[in-house]
Amino acid sequence: MNLKRAYPIFLRVGFALAIAFLISQFKFDYIESILFDARVRLRPTAQVSGHVTLIAVDPRSVERMGHVPSATEHTKLLQTLKAAHARAIVYLLSPNEIVGSADELTDLAKAMQTTPGFYVATQEVALKGEENANKLLPPFEDIKPIPAPKTADRAIFAGDGVTRRIMISYQDQPMLHPMIAKTYNPAIADENKIRGLFEFLDSKQTYIDFRPARTYVPVSFDDAFTAPTSDFADKIVIVGRDIQSTPKDYVQTPFSRDVIAMSVLELHANIFDTLILNSAPEKAPAWVGLLLTASISILTVYLVLAAKPTRGLAWLGIAIMAFFVVSFLFYWWGGIWIPMAQTMLAIFICYYFFIPYRLIIENRRSWEYYQKNRLLTQVEELKTNFLSMMSHDLKTPIARIQGMTDVVLHDSNPLSPRQKEALGTLSKSSQELLDFVSSILNLGRIESKELKLHMASRDPNALLSEVAEKLEYLARSKNISVKTELEPVFSLKMDSDLMKQVFSNLIENAIKYSPENTSILITTEEQDGTIVIQVSDQGQGIPEDELPYVFEKFYRSKNAKSSAIKGSGLGLYLAKYFVELHRGSISVDSQKGEGSTFTVELPVND
Ligand code: ADP
Repeated sequence: MNLKRAYPIFLRVGFALAIAFLISQFKFDYIESILFDARVRLRPTAQVSGHVTLIAVDPRSVERMGHVPSATEHTKLLQTLKAAHARAIVYLLSPNEIVGSADELTDLAKAMQTTPGFYVATQEVALKGEENANKLLPPFEDIKPIPAPKTADRAIFAGDGVTRRIMISYQDQPMLHPMIAKTYNPAIADENKIRGLFEFLDSKQTYIDFRPARTYVPVSFDDAFTAPTSDFADKIVIVGRDIQSTPKDYVQTPFSRDVIAMSVLELHANIFDTLILNSAPEKAPAWVGLLLTASISILTVYLVLAAKPTRGLAWLGIAIMAFFVVSFLFYWWGGIWIPMAQTMLAIFICYYFFIPYRLIIENRRSWEYYQKNRLLTQVEELKTNFLSMMSHDLKTPIARIQGMTDVVLHDSNPLSPRQKEALGTLSKSSQELLDFVSSILNLGRIESKELKLHMASRDPNALLSEVAEKLEYLARSKNISVKTELEPVFSLKMDSDLMKQVFSNLIENAIKYSPENTSILITTEEQDGTIVIQVSDQGQGIPEDELPYVFEKFYRSKNAKSSAIKGSGLGLYLAKYFVELHRGSISVDSQKGEGSTFTVELPVND
């Protein structure tokens, strides 16, 4: 490849790479999160670990109990769960919000402290050293709430208020979720083993592997007393509210932006299962995104500049679809999150930048074509004018030569045989010259569209006989017999001068291209409203590969060009043109070495 051709390619690839690099410097969290959510939503529902049970203070239990559960009922619940050997009991309700007499509350506080695996979860994450800020009021002051915050992308990341992340630790203080989850899955005891882990400010976080709402169906608070112990044995039991009285108890999820899309209870179940199964989505490394963006940008530039517009667009569509499918499949099968926003943006930028560029190039090209075409038309016109002018001026001197030759030939003074022969040649040559000049003149008339038809009703047979008779002497000179089989046909409206030229050319060719002592057959007949005229000879024929060209302007077969037979290559071109002016058609059938048949078909006028 030489440098001149490689240069634009380098330039385009360079541009595509520059766009890819530039875009990778920006974050498009909002678009990225929409595309992330689409993947979460379209994925087949992930399995649950089966280690989580939810107990909800829901409208049903409140209705049946006649009030929200009081301290006594909570104490009873704790006793039930302790007896059933729950591994962990996570209270999302603050003990300070539970109603009851001082004694009842003291009893509850005692139950909480003596139930193994009991935790109060708090939304607050305190700074290191300030842990006491989250202290509960008496009689619960000895119970230490443990942070288990629900995150939401309110001012950060997508900024749309959706919950997508899990807080694993903050300033190296562990959060409740990993603390309990690692008792089921010791592999995550080392937090660096948690899938999808990333650092943000002073915290370590990962993404939630969401299941749709209602995947975890909670047990109503009052039903928990009578539920089978297997519902709680060795499980994480989360106790919380689901009474739709405050949006605080709900979160927005990738599945829905509704304010009550999912209860916080279920959110915690999702978080626990993500950690227990260690199935958090893992963001692909930055280089994967950059590589994809760069290659798709290069593909876009190539398609816009090199492919046909519609095909290019179709391929681009296919490439985008393929990219979507691949990144969706990666998420579904491997939980791998390939960033898409930057790549999509790169496609649009490359596309919209290069479309006008292509238009400019194409415009310039068509302008050049237009100019070239104009020049060619002018040259062509000049040529035709010159030819017809010259031919016209040649006609008179030739006619004069012919006249003088005739005068001398028919002079009363006897001529020597040599003189007679010379005059014969002179007469033949001047006739050839005249034929040639006439053809050129006709061509000029056709091309300048000056040709006017003089239509009159004529019998084609009469015209044919006339022409055949005129060429009789030429045939005789080669001892060729011209036979005619003319069926009576209708008269046709035609320009007799032009049709005579057509017949004359066909018969003359038949004589010219046939050896001596052969015969030519001219026939006419009527077939379904057309008059069919055929001129057949027993001449040299036309090779098959040359047949399609014989009616072209200035075409002469290789054989004809190399032989002594004279011609301009215009005869059949003009014949075809004239026949078509009469709404007819002309065709040829020929076998090399066996002869040719030219057929003219003329429609009978209505
Ligand atoms: P030309 O002046 O060369 O005869 P035409 O346009 O009349 O030009 O014919 C084009 C070519 O078709 C001729 O050069 C010749 O090769 C071929 N051709 C035409 N008529 C016949 C025929 N009757 N037999 C064989 N070849 C023919």
